[in-house]
Amino acid sequence: MASFWEHLQLTFRIADAADIVLVSLFVYAFFMWSKSTASRQMLVGVAVAALIYVLARAYDLYMTAAMFQAALAFAAVAVIVVFQEDLRRFFARLASLGKLGRTRNHTTDPSFDVIVETVFELAKKKTGALLVVQGKEPLDRHTQGGVATDARISKALLDSIFDPHSMGHDGAVIIDQNRIAQFAARIPLSENSEEIGSRGTRHCAALGLSELSDAMVMVVSEERGVVSVAEDGVLARVDAPGALKLRLERFTERVRPRNAAETSRRFFMENPGLKVAAFLLACLAWFLVSYEAETVQKTFVVPIEYRNLADTLDIDDAAPTEARVTLTGYERAFNLLAPSTLKVSLDLSAVTEAQQEVVIDDSNFKSPSNLTLFRSVPRVVSFGVHTWVKARVPVELRTEGRLPRNLRDREMKVVPDAVQVLVWRSFKTPNLRVYTESIDLMRMTDATETKAKLVLPQYMRLESDQPNEVMLMLDSVATSTEAISIPQAQP
Ligand code: ATP
Ligand code: MG
Repeated sequence: MASFWEHLQLTFRIADAADIVLVSLFVYAFFMWSKSTASRQMLVGVAVAALIYVLARAYDLYMTAAMFQAALAFAAVAVIVVFQEDLRRFFARLASLGKLGRTRNHTTDPSFDVIVETVFELAKKKTGALLVVQGKEPLDRHTQGGVATDARISKALLDSIFDPHSMGHDGAVIIDQNRIAQFAARIPLSENSEEIGSRGTRHCAALGLSELSDAMVMVVSEERGVVSVAEDGVLARVDAPGALKLRLERFTERVRPRNAAETSRRFFMENPGLKVAAFLLACLAWFLVSYEAETVQKTFVVPIEYRNLADTLDIDDAAPTEARVTLTGYERAFNLLAPSTLKVSLDLSAVTEAQQEVVIDDSNFKSPSNLTLFRSVPRVVSFGVHTWVKARVPVELRTEGRLPRNLRDREMKVVPDAVQVLVWRSFKTPNLRVYTESIDLMRMTDATETKAKLVLPQYMRLESDQPNEVMLMLDSVATSTEAISIPQAQP
């Protein structure tokens, strides 16, 4: 268990937290949505099918898995068709999030008293009535045949509208932003016979609209003289005027938040149980999808860098220039790794002239914190360190072939015949020489003044002001003391 938490600490990234939060939000939104959906059986069905599919995959039941995979693909399409209305509402709500914080009406309004009084009086008189209070979602796509008005709410007006002798008493009054926006509107009927029970079409219409939108619908029954309210697909009787007013206030508060602070308070306080459940589900999903317990190893060829070598020192050719480095870690840590940033970096500021051996380890190979160095080939980097010392060494000409016949009696002269060099201390011997590149003597002519490059071994370099070449001259006096006899033996 301890190693599990350690492991989690090592591998958990900020992106994972963001991932979980986002998924929690979607799961929560899904919960909220399925709470108010009549077709929950279908969801249960899909969930069971998904569970069977997962189990079939886990236990290698190929045919069952294949069958349920097909069924789930079909269900995905079916869900979109069946729930298109809910999906539309979901996206309409997402869109309406942008309106958050805009101050609108107060939660309590004098018109509430008018509505409550009128509704209960109609109930007493056994006059049927249907009043819709619009929520955040527009209702135009659900209403039909209404008469548009833009009237202030008053008892007289409502009484007149619902007067059974009036032309417009059939249908619903739509209230939007404390104005009567429509009357005599037809609204969709519910198919939830369980919820409607023995009640008739007026109640059925009230329930129907509450299923399809976030509106609150009040019904007065002309047969029984009772008041009912439909909201979020639930139809319930309301006995007291005070209770109705409270429902109106709550509803208004819900659909028209007073300000941003209020909105966010509600957002964080509402449905704590569902939120925790959504969060736990998101965590579980994260473990199933993103969490890796297995580590992998990968090998990279990385350069070896030798740093901070003193100017007076040099390292020999035996020093390797790259290493094969094997790292251990989680697959996704490797996904985030840029291999070109890897290198072995050896600090040579403290070395002296000697044979050196350095072990490649965490001190000179820096890998990202979530990857560890497993192996390096070579493990030990070995090389000699040498001190540069000054020396004056003679230049020796290397040649091939023979001089043309007419020049055979001439002698070759190298100018200068010695150069100032730096040489590794251990290589400084009395008969140290520096050689030129090989010169083809056949090509020499009397008039030529040929240049020859100096070929320097690793242990020798010219002092900074020295040119890297010498001149070759044919001496007219064959007896020059500085002349070099030709052809000469190759060393
Ligand atoms: P009550 O208890 O008042 O009798 P009820 O639920 O039994 O109500 P009905 O008796 O069928 O319903 O009432 C019919 C009235 O309901 C219609 O006259 C009409 O005013 C209203 N009504 C019915 N269907 C709709 C609808 N789709 N949209 C708006 N109003 C409707
Ligand atoms: Mg009836």
